[in-house]
Amino acid sequence: MSDLYITKRYLLMTLDPVHIGTGGTSLGRVDISIVREPGTSLPKIPGTSLSGAIRQYAAYRYESKRCAGAGQGEGEEGHCHDPKCPICYTFGYLRGQAGGQSGTVSIGDARLLLFPVHSLAGPVWVTCPSILREFDVTEADPGEQAYLPEKLSSHEYLNLGWLMLKKAADNFQWPNGIKGVPNEIKECAVLISDKLFSQVVNSNLEVRTSVSIDPETGAAKEGALFTYEAIPRPTLLWLDVVQDNYRDGFPTTDKKCKVEEVEENGKKEKKYTHNAAAPLGEEWQKPLDVVKAGLKLGEYLGIGGMGTRGFGRVRLLNEEVTA
Ligand SMILES: [Zn+2]
Repeated sequence: MSDLYITKRYLLMTLDPVHIGTGGTSLGRVDISIVREPGTSLPKIPGTSLSGAIRQYAAYRYESKRCAGAGQGEGEEGHCHDPKCPICYTFGYLRGQAGGQSGTVSIGDARLLLFPVHSLAGPVWVTCPSILREFDVTEADPGEQAYLPEKLSSHEYLNLGWLMLKKAADNFQWPNGIKGVPNEIKECAVLISDKLFSQVVNSNLEVRTSVSIDPETGAAKEGALFTYEAIPRPTLLWLDVVQDNYRDGFPTTDKKCKVEEVEENGKKEKKYTHNAAAPLGEEWQKPLDVVKAGLKLGEYLGIGGMGTRGFGRVRLLNEEVTA
């Protein structure tokens, strides 16, 4: 029973700026702002966006395209609904004659863990006590000061160009309990207060100006200059994925889906046979394995908007963040 219900905490790193738009425009200094957490106004990647991308990439990997999308788009075949389909089993499916079925995983928001900032002493990654508490790590609030890593212990101040933070008496050592953070980032990790963290992050988002192109003329539209913001790279984020495998019937899969064109009563149709084509290169034994396969492709295919402008690639760093 216990392995039916599992929570996994994954660690991600942005390889490109990531833009998950709010879908509207704001009246602030950017035209296209990104999704934020309501309480802290910190940017995040919402679980709904992640879930869509992960499903799509896992389905690509498995080569069952019809199971990739939302299942009800124009011209889509719709999800296959087959109990032998690892994609539909994991993420659920919509409607159809047999009715819908909910998925067996829920994917949380990806939230900030370490955020990159330029300082006069080189790049540093900031974090704050409220983030570390999510990992059961308790650190004192540094107030107006900064806990600096050993490497920067000879500095009296952390100079962020527009903000000077006095060094706190103690050094900051990256907690052993939070695994998977690359050494070069750990060695430059700085702890600042929750309040300052929000200010530092919101002042260091990637803001770019771009121009809308008129698809008919191929030229810039008049007055079409717009700015948009994004989570910069390399930012470290974490997310929890809960597997609730209540049906206990995951179809263990080690081959791709086989899709054939068959003719029936003079009508050409696609026939899907699960777990029947070329080897997958790994064995999916549970819904979380499907999630991981999709997440891994985020490194190449990206998530969020502005993909055509080189945005969105995210690398899965670790799937066992806490010991
Ligand atoms: Zn399916």
